[in-house]
Amino acid sequence: MKIDTICVQEGYSPKNGEPRVLPIYQSTTFKYDSSAEMGDLFDLKKNGFFYSRLANPTADAPEKKLAALEGGIGCMLTSSGQAAALISVLNIAGAGDHIISSASIYGGVFNLFYKTLAQMGIETTFVPCDSKSEDLEKYFRPNTKLVYGETLSNPSLDILDIEEFAKAAHAHNVPLIVDNTFPTPINCRPFEFGTDIVIHSTTKYLDGHAVAVGGAIIDSGNFDWTKGNFPMLTEPDDSYHGIAYTSVFGKNAFIVKARAHLMRDLGSSPAPMNAFLLNLGMETLALRMRKHCENAKKVADYLVSRMSGKNAAVTWVNYPDLPSNHNYELCRKYLPNGSSGVISFGIKGGREAATKFMDSVQLAAVVTHVADARTSLLHPASTTHRQLSDEQLKECGVAPDLIRFSVGIEDAEDIIADIDQAMEKAVK
Ligand SMILES: *Cc1c(COP(=O)(O)O)cnc(C)c1O
Repeated sequence: MKIDTICVQEGYSPKNGEPRVLPIYQSTTFKYDSSAEMGDLFDLKKNGFFYSRLANPTADAPEKKLAALEGGIGCMLTSSGQAAALISVLNIAGAGDHIISSASIYGGVFNLFYKTLAQMGIETTFVPCDSKSEDLEKYFRPNTKLVYGETLSNPSLDILDIEEFAKAAHAHNVPLIVDNTFPTPINCRPFEFGTDIVIHSTTKYLDGHAVAVGGAIIDSGNFDWTKGNFPMLTEPDDSYHGIAYTSVFGKNAFIVKARAHLMRDLGSSPAPMNAFLLNLGMETLALRMRKHCENAKKVADYLVSRMSGKNAAVTWVNYPDLPSNHNYELCRKYLPNGSSGVISFGIKGGREAATKFMDSVQLAAVVTHVADARTSLLHPASTTHRQLSDEQLKECGVAPDLIRFSVGIEDAEDIIADIDQAMEKAVK
């Protein structure tokens, strides 16, 4: 099936007389005729549902859909993108281990690595996202367990040189984990460039309507855990009847362990209702992404036109699809059909004018959200990233005057007219 068809059809196919639309299985538990049958499920000898912390049929459908969209072999939904990032790391790293991460990542995940993982005994080295594999060599240690990055970073819109990061990771027998939230599998499929594990904040474009916080982890099935140093996957797990995930589950070891071990222990599972909303959102994902990108290109062109002449009001525009952009080459390579609907820019008058601009928009809404059908905007330095020092802001690629503008799927002319009138008030 082609990608538009997968969005609509994959994951749920009703049998004779069953509901046409994926039902919401609002049930914590599932009934069996004998305790022997249930015992087999607990022992992971049989597939099936028994408790919704671990798996639920309403979550199962979007899991299958998302795995197919990314070209992976398995997927586990989580209660948030943060939980997906945490579980993807804890699944293969523990106290005393080290990870390498691109510095251009979402502020929340940056904090997770910088603060919380450090407290748990996992040390992170942050590196530039455009590093070549030779540059990355020096950061590897004997206890390095993974390399991490974001395809298109939120909010700095930097593009990870995926092939270079994958090459360096594989030379050290560790996997590359990539957060593909912003491009979605419609605009980039990181597995095609050597990524081993993809994660998502499904809260953004995948849901697309700002109705449900959620996350996902997808496994390509390509990484050979037995070649590296991953005792968590290859040695018997004494909390799971002494099974060694790789010997029992082969290629599926990563996702089975994430579910059987970490979802069991951490419990960050998605609600059935949220899984239903995610599935509904993904049905229109391909359509929406095309419109988001088409509109964003028009808005970016407009903003560039306001950088010069007597009406000049914009100081800089960052949209990777613009030929003048420092990421244009990487964008052509990894995101040839468009990056996303997100643009960042600065206006004349710096922080003060930016605030006035935020207060003056009418159609666009000031919200702590990004990547949904409605045009929205945010000033990260005073909101999502306010806990970061100026030094850390710089490391994440966030300028103090940066306005993150998330272009929706309304008519581009209306969006531009709104920017125009707000700019009129903000820039003297
Ligand atoms: C929002 C976001 C996250 C965190 O996801 P939540 O669903 O808010 O927990 C992680 N990565 C990226 C790129 C994001 O945009």
